[in-house]
Amino acid sequence: TEGFPEELAERVRRRSATFGASSVLFYEQPIEMVRAEGTYMYDADGRKYLDVYNNVPSVGHCHPRVVAAMAKQAAEINIHTRYLTKIVETYSERLLATYPEGLSNLVMTCTGSESNDLAMRIARIGTGAEGFIVTESAYHGNTALVTEISPSALKKRKPAPFVRTVPAPSGNDPAAVAASFAAHVEAAIADLRKEGYGTAALIVDSIFSSDGIYADPAGFLQPAVAAVRKAGGLFIADEVQPGFGRTGFNLWGFARHGVTPDIVTMGKPMGNGFPMSGVVTRPDLLQKFCEETGYFNTFGGNPVAAAAGLAVLDVIADEGLTENARDVGSYFADSLRNLKSRHVTIGAVRGAGLFIGLDFIGLEDGEPDTALSTHVINEMKKSGILIGAAGKYGATLKIRPPLCFSKADADHFTGVLSTILGNR
Ligand code: PMP
Repeated sequence: TEGFPEELAERVRRRSATFGASSVLFYEQPIEMVRAEGTYMYDADGRKYLDVYNNVPSVGHCHPRVVAAMAKQAAEINIHTRYLTKIVETYSERLLATYPEGLSNLVMTCTGSESNDLAMRIARIGTGAEGFIVTESAYHGNTALVTEISPSALKKRKPAPFVRTVPAPSGNDPAAVAASFAAHVEAAIADLRKEGYGTAALIVDSIFSSDGIYADPAGFLQPAVAAVRKAGGLFIADEVQPGFGRTGFNLWGFARHGVTPDIVTMGKPMGNGFPMSGVVTRPDLLQKFCEETGYFNTFGGNPVAAAAGLAVLDVIADEGLTENARDVGSYFADSLRNLKSRHVTIGAVRGAGLFIGLDFIGLEDGEPDTALSTHVINEMKKSGILIGAAGKYGATLKIRPPLCFSKADADHFTGVLSTILGNR
């Protein structure tokens, strides 16, 4: 808190006193946010920030239709899920209608972590195997089980013995990406087997957000998924980040790859800020799971969640947000790629729709430049733009705005980034 205005220093001290070491705040000097609307957030001093980072308020901050739907339902009835409630049934049918055939059962949960925890349990019971394969810098959530498949959250040790990690699907030769990812997955299957583990599932975030955003070439997941299935395992698509239209292809990131998962997990944007999440799977897998174990979720699928979720689906469709993600996203990525000719510190620009990763690289060595990424993030804040980082080194800008982002918003971001980089 050194150098902070006294009032801010006091707020940060109070926060640390209560939350202790678990208190995590963005920025060298944190911001107190009081209001938000569309693609903008406002701080306690009335300063306006363009939000280029937050994917939870995916259809726009405080979207009036979502707010109204939640308020109306909260005023009528909100209860756990062991009674019939029309809105919950309506929502489940609407959501499942967006899925490929066969993925026709939904379990509603409250966080992405819970969804992945449940998905892992369904996969284990469904296959009789214990092992999981994930990417090197993956994050899938915070429960005891899911932390084991979230290498990015394990600071001081390796994942549990039933977990194998593989590098994120990347490489200079697009044609080789799919084959090399599959080869790593095959090696992981063999290594699990050597240690006495079967493969329950390959679980990936289909936009590889915490690995640094890897989207291309679309379709690269296919051979890896085939290899896992050949070994008797399942494919779990974690759609917490790419889901609900962000990749600009359709609602689901896995669809870009032309694969149908056995289990899909959802979260973050599902309720535009109302905490809700879900697991979609095949009836046979859910049947087997429920024969083995009881499962009840007090808050999962409550009527207010269903109302929020239904309004989110309506807004995505009525406002053409998937199409907007595709159009504005490709315009934005092209503008960022054009910047590369003026700034040698900009490395690769990758992504799909409104999920773009931009690497910063060192002037001399071309290696990931974390210091520059941190500098840009803090300077952007001073210029009224919110942005964050991803990837193993935190040297990749994670560009992931609400889906109502416009081309003018993209131009503004690109201009400010160029000014901050100066002659670098
Ligand atoms: N999966 C992915 C890909 C995520 O990014 C996250 C959260 N960052 C989660 C799961 C966990 O979701 P939650 O924080 O809602 O538990």
